[in-house]
Amino acid sequence: MDIQRSQELFAEAESHIVGGVNSPSRAFKGVSGGTPVFMEKGEGAYLYDVDGNAYIDYIGGYGPIITGHAHPHITRAITDAAEAGVLYGTPTSLENRFAEKLKEAIPSLEKVRFVNSGTEAVMTTIRVARAYTGRNKIIKFAGCYHGHADPVLVAAGSGPATLGSPDSAGVTKNTAAEIITVPFNDIESFEQAMGTFGDEIAAVLVEPIVGNFGIVEPKPGFLEKINEITHDAGALVIYDEVISAFRFHYGAAQDLIGVYPDLTAMGKIIGGGLPIGAYGGKVSIMEEVAPLGPAYQAGTMAGNPVSMKAGIACLEVLEDARVYDKLETLGEKLEEGLNTLAKKAQVPIQINRKTGALTVYFSSQPVENYDDADATNGDQFATFFHSLLNEGIHLAPSKFEAWFLTSAHSEKDIDTTLTAAEKAFHAVKSS
Ligand code: PMP
Repeated sequence: MDIQRSQELFAEAESHIVGGVNSPSRAFKGVSGGTPVFMEKGEGAYLYDVDGNAYIDYIGGYGPIITGHAHPHITRAITDAAEAGVLYGTPTSLENRFAEKLKEAIPSLEKVRFVNSGTEAVMTTIRVARAYTGRNKIIKFAGCYHGHADPVLVAAGSGPATLGSPDSAGVTKNTAAEIITVPFNDIESFEQAMGTFGDEIAAVLVEPIVGNFGIVEPKPGFLEKINEITHDAGALVIYDEVISAFRFHYGAAQDLIGVYPDLTAMGKIIGGGLPIGAYGGKVSIMEEVAPLGPAYQAGTMAGNPVSMKAGIACLEVLEDARVYDKLETLGEKLEEGLNTLAKKAQVPIQINRKTGALTVYFSSQPVENYDDADATNGDQFATFFHSLLNEGIHLAPSKFEAWFLTSAHSEKDIDTTLTAAEKAFHAVKSS
């Protein structure tokens, strides 16, 4: 595939923008190698690049795109909003409507606040939990990405009962020392950490269905146990549903699983493709937030009419249960097809799938936590990724990312993907 114009643009980008990209996950360097493709249009399930190539898109904007690119209902809402002026710095009825819609879909949200990104949403839930409990420490799970606020850019210490160390330059040791990281799906390690630090813990932060070392579901009872132990210790449970809210059904993962947090952070899908974040939870806890309480959080762009209208329109599309039925049907077809082809090519893979989101790991072992995902074969993934890209199938470039289907994908798109995947598995086998 000729991507000459993309290569030129990337060289230009590198001279203006650090690393040539505005988010590191878009860089191919250090992940699967090669040059990122520059897109100029998205329509339905497809992306079109600057060299005139078309791609079936499985990046889904890293999660927000679930109804396909330029969905007419959402596009109309955005243009209508833009024509009415994009920002007033006053409240609007759109914020009420959207908050009400979110609360109807996710009953644990007694009160909400809109912010501008998933990072802001998670960062604020941590602040609110600390304000509410008067405690400082947070437990998180290894490999779960929660945005780039300082407290969550922390990696595991050497064991479950040790304090974290900074995962990024610029995050102080003192910040990291407030964070304890334990393996996902490992209730013993969690109990051990709570045993050591329980009365210092403000909150336990978890993705109820992981999306950031691929799609990984909690083992039966894992989230129930977290709730029980955390609440017994007088701490709060925060769910990071930035990926999972509205990804698997009309609502949050908590409603699918039937275990409810005290606070929830959201983003991605709820903005219909525009910048957004939101957090919410129990009234008694949310009343810590300014102007009612002492925990400060604000935002010039928060609740802006364009993001509100796009978000409402996106939820209106998703309210039709056929969207999720379709995502399930297509996801199942893709999973079965990929498994069959990998077997035929004698390439061991594991597929973790939930509805229209899945991860293909190059491994013969199941993936239940970050270490399992980390141990999967990145070289084989890179070969597979580039072979598919060359055939016009665009995945995210890292072995840790999920494939995101949209309701605009068709059975034919899956067939085209599987034809390309057959070649790609052969390329992996002979690499
Ligand atoms: N939490 C999770 C689970 C995420 O996947 C992400 C983004 N990938 C974030 C938080 C941060 O969201 P944003 O990029 O909108 O700041």
